[in-house]
Amino acid sequence: MRRLLFSVSAALLGLGLGPGCATSPAPHAEARPLPASTPTATGRGGAAATVDVRATSAAIEVLRSGGNAVDAAVAAASVLGVTDPYSCGIGGGGFMLVYLARDKRVVTLDHRETAPAGLERSRLYENGAPLPFDEFVTSGLSVGVPGSLMGWSEALRRYGSRRLADVLQPAIHVAEQGFPVDATFAEQTRHNVERFRDFTSSAALFLGPDGQPWPVGSTFKNPGLARTYRLVSQGGVPVFYRGEIAQAIVSTVTRPPLVPGASRKVRPGVMRLADLERYEAIVRPPVTSTYRGHTLYGMGAPGSGGVTLALTLKPLDSYVPSALSHARFLHLYLEASRLAFADRNAFLGDPAFVSIPEAGLLSHDYAAQRGSAIHEARASTSAVAPGNPLPFQGAASTSTPPLPEVARPAAEETAPNKETTHITTSDAAGNIVAYTCTIEGEGGNGMVVPGYGFLLNNELTDFDLPASPDAPHPNAPAPGKRPRSSMSPLLVFKDGAPVLALGSPGGSTIITTVGQTLVNHLDFGMPIAQALAAPRVSQRNSTDNRSQAEPAFIASPEATELTAMGHGFTDVGPIGALTAIRFHPDGTVTAAAEPTRRGGGSAMVVEPVK
Ligand code: GLU
Repeated sequence: MRRLLFSVSAALLGLGLGPGCATSPAPHAEARPLPASTPTATGRGGAAATVDVRATSAAIEVLRSGGNAVDAAVAAASVLGVTDPYSCGIGGGGFMLVYLARDKRVVTLDHRETAPAGLERSRLYENGAPLPFDEFVTSGLSVGVPGSLMGWSEALRRYGSRRLADVLQPAIHVAEQGFPVDATFAEQTRHNVERFRDFTSSAALFLGPDGQPWPVGSTFKNPGLARTYRLVSQGGVPVFYRGEIAQAIVSTVTRPPLVPGASRKVRPGVMRLADLERYEAIVRPPVTSTYRGHTLYGMGAPGSGGVTLALTLKPLDSYVPSALSHARFLHLYLEASRLAFADRNAFLGDPAFVSIPEAGLLSHDYAAQRGSAIHEARASTSAVAPGNPLPFQGAASTSTPPLPEVARPAAEETAPNKETTHITTSDAAGNIVAYTCTIEGEGGNGMVVPGYGFLLNNELTDFDLPASPDAPHPNAPAPGKRPRSSMSPLLVFKDGAPVLALGSPGGSTIITTVGQTLVNHLDFGMPIAQALAAPRVSQRNSTDNRSQAEPAFIASPEATELTAMGHGFTDVGPIGALTAIRFHPDGTVTAAAEPTRRGGGSAMVVEPVK
């Protein structure tokens, strides 16, 4: 195995870190032997499922030592910041759903990235047109004020039992000791090589001296991130939101660390220290809906997952799945999803900026009206219009939302294979966490904060940009606004008892991945491991009859039957990578992670049972 030395020069690092920051080729060492990565585990005493065995192990160690599900989720997230740095980390944000067993209540913690106060919408237009998408992604303008660390800190302070300094220890260990580069990590690096080469700090961390990704099997270490986590352990979140890391973030955003001579056009952003200082994680009530006698708790705005899942599932509730073939039920599901996305796109945005007719959207009568638009045997062949939920608002007053102008779709709309990750944990006391976190695209905005070892997000590309700079749109950018998200952590209960916790990456396919997995499990009776592995199809109000789908779905008998009903499919490769915990009536749980997509994940329980 080739060992990697982070013996990058100070010039490459782009700051005053001398060769002393380079690590010596210390032998790879784990605190204790890592268990083999398996995607399913059943047992008691607490559970965790993530995309990575080190993150899952860290969560399980925290649970074993008496920590709760929140402590475990934060430990896993901080490890994923090391081992899955192109998907998530302290340069990004997330949505955490927490079930507090003692209080029997669900809370959500919104720590979504936020547009800086200076980000007037006009800054994202040039000559009257939206910035070219790729140039927006790799720029200082796409960076929202990161929320992860504030989210972790608030989650621990409100609902955890451990200090941030303690739960960061496993991540510091992994960052210092390193981990073997696998095919997924190498591939994700390869996708980013061109832009990493253009930034001194990103090249120094993620590429070898030859400018190529570190090869599979080599040991990847991140001493910069270890240092950052140590700084936070000692100084708390103020180090990140007011202190030296805040300054380094602002400097990276406003003066991108371009390699001298690089020809890439990288627009600087407008983030200021004050934007970081005023950042808040927000506790919000969940969006509550029902399906098949279950209660669903999802993420509310600026998340679109809770409402869109409710809109998708409600019209299906009046059908008996066993009375229909899988394909006929899937037809109804795809049509309902199409209608749901029409409403999502028309009405949802940051609630601090947009008046959302949520009561109307979630009302039974509105669902019945929308459901009546579904043809039971024929696929829609074009995009459908949003409904009008205002008459269904009841006592909840909402002014008429302006009809949105057609916009360039947000990044989360376009491709299913982007990044993000989902963590699911539970503990012996019955607390549960479903936590989705992200830096938006694979590799975020491409810029590592020099010396601190983490990538910045490009979350502001999740805003929609209408063709004209002042057209109304619920998800148009504005100073201090949070872009709408598809992240859909979900908790499912029946008669007050937990049944399922789940979530996935995948841009706006997150919503359909979570929805299809629920349908597979609740309607088709698949065990959770089978439900999350099954081939996927995603309908998000496309302009024609086609849904995005995985090749295995397109090859399935269901697809043939659906094609006969007028559906078409676009092969988009793998969609999502879900993790879940299923709670059984006997008190055991099954933790389940994606078995193959994105290299497969890891599920563990504290006390396995056969
Ligand atoms: N930024 C996306 C969202 O918040 C998630 C990123 C992805 O999975 O592609 O919806």
